[in-house]
Amino acid sequence: MLPKFVSVIARAKDEALSWLSSLENPKIIAGGTDLMVKMRAGKHYSHVIDVAGVPELLGVTEKDGKLFIGPATTHARLSSEGSIVRNARSLALACGLVGSPQIRNMGTIGGNLANASPAADSIPPLLVHDAVVTLESRDASRKVPLEEAIVAPYVTSIDGKELIGSIEISPLRGYREGYRRVAKRATWAISRLGVAFAIREENGMFLDAKLAIGSCTPMPFRPRKVEDLLKGAPKNEATISDAIRMTLEEIKLISGIRPSYAYKLPVLKGILEEVLRG
Ligand SMILES: Cc1cc2nc3c(=O)[nH]c(=O)nc-3n(C[C@H](O)[C@H](O)[C@H](O)COP(=O)(O)OP(=O)(O)OC[C@H]3O[C@@H](n4cnc5c(N)ncnc54)[C@H](O)[C@@H]3O)c2cc1C
Repeated sequence: MLPKFVSVIARAKDEALSWLSSLENPKIIAGGTDLMVKMRAGKHYSHVIDVAGVPELLGVTEKDGKLFIGPATTHARLSSEGSIVRNARSLALACGLVGSPQIRNMGTIGGNLANASPAADSIPPLLVHDAVVTLESRDASRKVPLEEAIVAPYVTSIDGKELIGSIEISPLRGYREGYRRVAKRATWAISRLGVAFAIREENGMFLDAKLAIGSCTPMPFRPRKVEDLLKGAPKNEATISDAIRMTLEEIKLISGIRPSYAYKLPVLKGILEEVLRG
């Protein structure tokens, strides 16, 4: 059973921020697909502030060459939103693979990010797009790169009086971009492995490569040394095999040897071969 709490529905961002700063033991809720599970398991908040219908937190806008995603935008919407499909294909694909149709219709990108699960599907694509999160409180606003906003599994640097105001991403044009996901089943299953990629190549050379791997280390990460190796390298089997070896070594360096690596690393190797060979 759920513990008793008071629920308030915000109609504007200022209203949500004002309640966050004044109410006792408050918590933001959007789709509730993560929070309700935690509250059923005993986590207690005195006040729950519903931001799912706050207009300023919904949809995608373009400004100065960047895309600004409202945190309360659902996975279902993002998976088919024109500007995301055109400029951040890996994110559209990842959002389209979250959970099930019901979960995608309720679950939001802000909730996915704030929950900070190592298996969150939207996080690897957001990393590939150098996402920057705007965190707002009643009196202040700050911008934090996503890589710094997630500080440990299920832990972010978002203060209890702050909410995610928007998620800014850099569009990628001229890249071959995608998201590969491995899970026990196609739906209703959490990712065992998620790989987002954006690769630009010409005349048999890698011009640029952005990779992000989720569900493998405590936090999704970008193998930057591998990206540096690929930049300007010939697209051949030697480069690809060096890149894969370095990625697997980096994972072992981050996490040590885990029992799940007996299957995850060979599967990851296969995904990276396919992605890099294109
Ligand atoms: C059956 C099932 C299957 C699932 N499958 C997947 C899957 O395949 N892939 C995947 O990635 N996830 C999956 N999830 C997890 C979940 O659906 C997602 O993480 C979803 O995106 C969470 O969004 P939400 O709006 O429901 O978050 P909520 O539950 O409303 O909130 C989650 C957290 O985010 C915080 N939050 C929400 N919005 C804001 C904001 N604007 N500012 C600050 N904090 C905020 C809340 O306070 C809370 O801490 C699954 C969940 C279930 C129940």
